[in-house]
Amino acid sequence: MPEFTPQVLDSLRQPLETGEISVARANAHVSYPARFQLIAAMNPCRCGTAGADGIACRRGARCAADYQGRVSGPFMDRIDIQIDVPAVTPADLALPPAAEGTAEIAARVAAARARQMERNDGVVNAALSQVVLEKVSAPDAGGQKLLIQAAETLGLTARGYHRVLRVARTLADLAGSEQVHRLHIAEALSHRRARTGLVSGVPTAKFVSRTPRNPFYS
Ligand SMILES: [Zn+2]
Repeated sequence: MPEFTPQVLDSLRQPLETGEISVARANAHVSYPARFQLIAAMNPCRCGTAGADGIACRRGARCAADYQGRVSGPFMDRIDIQIDVPAVTPADLALPPAAEGTAEIAARVAAARARQMERNDGVVNAALSQVVLEKVSAPDAGGQKLLIQAAETLGLTARGYHRVLRVARTLADLAGSEQVHRLHIAEALSHRRARTGLVSGVPTAKFVSRTPRNPFYS
């Protein structure tokens, strides 16, 4: 992702937020639909070794800071799920395949989607207005407390707060739960990075994490 210029990445902010792209010229102002799903990956630093066990990045902390600094905070704030993926070790390669296959996961996703469409009058969680989102995602007391505490600790923006709520609602749907519980908030929070800098020079955002680490689980 940081191989694109910061200007190109930041031009995605508007369509990511509104699902539309506006083109303004002297005599005309046109909006086009632009609803899409963004999936992106980045290395921790340009040489790709920052944070890897036993391998030192040749250019030190500066390498990670410069590289990650190409992706702006407001842009990252619009990405709902951010996951650090440690390098695969030879021991990982020897592990048996995951117990749950693609077909089982697809069925689980379809069920979660059907559940939200039914509850939200035909709208998926991703497209809910903020007002309806707050209504259908109200967490239990423990979840609410955790969310407020984490919002302060992580320095969540108002946008970040609502994005956590939205992801938590979907996690609850995947688990077949009517209410959003503390566990769902905790998991949604684990997919967001603290606003105050990138964690110890190791963040990468890729597709899956084998070892999710979550400071909010207890
Ligand atoms: Zn490096």
